[in-house]
Amino acid sequence: MIVKMKIDADEKEISRLQKYLIDKGFGIKDASSESVTLFGILGDVKSLDPEQIKVFPGVESVTRISSPFKLASKAFKQEPTIITLKNGVEIGGNEFVVMSGPCSVENEEQLRIIAKAVKESGSKILRGGVFKPRTSPYAFQGLGIEGLKMMRKVADEYGLAIISELMGTEHIDEFIKYVDIIQLGARNMQNFDLLKAVGKTKVPVMLKRGLSNTIEEWLMSAEYIMAGGNENVILCERGIRTFEKYTRNTLDISAVLAIRELSHLPVFVDPSHAAGKWQMIEALSLAALAVQADGIIVEVHHDPENALSDGAQSLKPHKFEHMMERLEKTSKVFTKQVNR
Ligand code: PEP
Ligand code: MN
Repeated sequence: MIVKMKIDADEKEISRLQKYLIDKGFGIKDASSESVTLFGILGDVKSLDPEQIKVFPGVESVTRISSPFKLASKAFKQEPTIITLKNGVEIGGNEFVVMSGPCSVENEEQLRIIAKAVKESGSKILRGGVFKPRTSPYAFQGLGIEGLKMMRKVADEYGLAIISELMGTEHIDEFIKYVDIIQLGARNMQNFDLLKAVGKTKVPVMLKRGLSNTIEEWLMSAEYIMAGGNENVILCERGIRTFEKYTRNTLDISAVLAIRELSHLPVFVDPSHAAGKWQMIEALSLAALAVQADGIIVEVHHDPENALSDGAQSLKPHKFEHMMERLEKTSKVFTKQVNR
């Protein structure tokens, strides 16, 4: 429920109403901007009667948010959320941000070759998994925290930020010492303990859409993180499971548009895990740009034939460079006006 105060409402009126709500066990989330005093009432608001709140002096309007997600909703915050990383990169702003790197961190040499290549092609964020959610327990499981330290070292050599996947709560304190963005993978989208744990940090979180989850469920998971106090959430569409088997998953490009309508949070596309085929990555990245996603996260490997995971969907550095050139050129077209 959102309360908008009158332009001439004074501090006393605002705090009197907020105290009344807090005493009833509700939370208050300020959403004011320069021109308007606005706050959300958090909690199980079904029992609250908006008419009763309107009786308080200074109240202009009271609106129920019809969606089950509140903090993540556009009703609650109209301006887009912009997240600024330590290396200055803005996510959700004017730039189409490209995160890239190997599926898995394999060794320092591999990482350095790829980090150098993606940096030279203009990427500012290095991706790489050290805890790997593999379908088979016999497949490479990742290098763990040692791999993360390696990643930090190499990323710092090239001035890159880091995104890596956190799979469980047990490593969180160590993990956040090294990463700039915590990735929560598709398989963990509804791991509520993990969502709550990252919600207690201030580190930006990229929340991937679950393999078979609806957009509403995805936003409810974002809500878990935000309700814990961490509002730095980036959503990522990475393909969903459908009857189609030709591609690894089906990229739901319309999800980007749906998120734009429903939420103020930045939204990314992962064409790699969606398609599962390197041949499709460039075109799907252009599609992400066309729907004005905030960026993409793409797998790159210098030797995909021998990659320890996801080689089939990894771009070689020269293909990545080609894709970056096309993205750059195409993005200029998008800023042009249509004159008729
Ligand atoms: C990954 O990014 O390497 C990954 C496992 O992604 P997802 O969770 O989307 O499958
Ligand atoms: Mn992968």
